[in-house]
Amino acid sequence: MSSVRVVARVRPLLKHELGKDIVVSAESLNDDDCTKSIIRVPNPKNDIESYSFQFSSVYEESVSQSELFEAEVAPTVKHLFNGYDTTIFSYGPTGTGKTHTMRGGKSLADRGVIPRLLSSIFRKCRTIEKKTNGETQVTVTMSYFEIYCDRVHDLFEPPEKRTPSGLAIRDNHGKSVVVGLKEITCGTLKEFDHLYDQANVNRSTSATKLNAHSSRSHAILCVKITQTTESTVLVSQASAIDLAGSEDNRRTDNNKERLVESSAINKSLFVLAQCVEAISKKQHRVPYRESKMTRILSLGQNNGMTLMILNLAPTRSYHLDTLSSLNFANRTK
Ligand code: ADP
Ligand code: MG
Repeated sequence: MSSVRVVARVRPLLKHELGKDIVVSAESLNDDDCTKSIIRVPNPKNDIESYSFQFSSVYEESVSQSELFEAEVAPTVKHLFNGYDTTIFSYGPTGTGKTHTMRGGKSLADRGVIPRLLSSIFRKCRTIEKKTNGETQVTVTMSYFEIYCDRVHDLFEPPEKRTPSGLAIRDNHGKSVVVGLKEITCGTLKEFDHLYDQANVNRSTSATKLNAHSSRSHAILCVKITQTTESTVLVSQASAIDLAGSEDNRRTDNNKERLVESSAINKSLFVLAQCVEAISKKQHRVPYRESKMTRILSLGQNNGMTLMILNLAPTRSYHLDTLSSLNFANRTK
């Protein structure tokens, strides 16, 4: 059965925010015998009243990258090597810590979910090969692409190789595949770091054309694990997504490009929420074919596990965006 976990993470105040008004708190409440994890936010019109939203877990500002990884992502690695897919994504307005959570910073302590996941995967590969005396071979291949204005672009290719209409998606034995997407075999964390850094440069190079492009596109890393013995092949996939910023997507803007962007972002986030909701309510039909992203990920199929990390900024300047993110997350439960 496919499953989903929705958790929230509040980032700390940034240097330029010191002294600003904090309106978001992550709390653990003891209710009878169970602990409830909630995010509390005041009503923007009246600070006395507050709204609370419940999550599977909440992480307050002092929680480190390593603590978040160990609590939420490390347990999914076993599931992955048992042949099931996992999808992890960060959701929230621009500036709330999505990229920090998924990619993270350069220092070891700052590394995000993605490099930590790869490190665990490579370690597990070596353990399996050692345990089976080399009888089980494990290969790790990856693809990395962005979806911008509903067009798919390969991030393992330099921006000048892009076609304006993007790559096509076709169905192949019941699975949707992106035609011509590069798949690269990778065996060590060092190799991965190099590939991933280069690809992220490709993402930001195309940003020079369009302001803040990277916060208007979804970046999706797919890591395929193939375990082969003489008689069996077991394939599973981990997907990690740094989503487009969720703010302002409903605004009516005169700029045509902005409108196209916004409606593409709206649509894919809407379908994503519907899929997460269908999975969490154990509905038979998950509408994953209704957007490119969920279709490529086959979201909610094959007993997959989905983790959604809702990123929040603590200050009043994000208040309305924070509430709309919380309402979005609430709809998925
Ligand atoms: P987003 O991708 O959602 O637009 P970023 O990940 O770029 O947001 O984060 C915005 C800023 O906040 C960055 O400078 C980032 O380093 C910082 N930041 C975000 N989350 C944290 C955190 N948990 N701890 C420290 N700094 C953070
Ligand atoms: Mg970002």
